[in-house]
Amino acid sequence: MDQLREMELNDEGDYASASNDNMVENAIGSQQMHELEEIEAALYKIKIKQYGICEMCEDDIGFQRLKVKPHAKYCIVCRPIVEKNKHH
Ligand SMILES: [Zn+2]
Repeated sequence: MDQLREMELNDEGDYASASNDNMVENAIGSQQMHELEEIEAALYKIKIKQYGICEMCEDDIGFQRLKVKPHAKYCIVCRPIVEKNKHH
């Protein structure tokens, strides 16, 4: 009996966290849309055989970096420069 009560409690907890996740998902929706656009851009680059090439210096972005961020547009050197310019 005690076990059953515990399970019910857990169910409620799951519900709460599920709706919480939903709220977070809605909040970051535009961020996800942006990521999706970047992924689509990456797919296009694969198509035109420009994938993995930095848009700034046209060097190879590098496998290690692409593994962490498959839709990276810039190499590890140019990325911070681009980010800094964005905030101007
Ligand atoms: Zn670069």
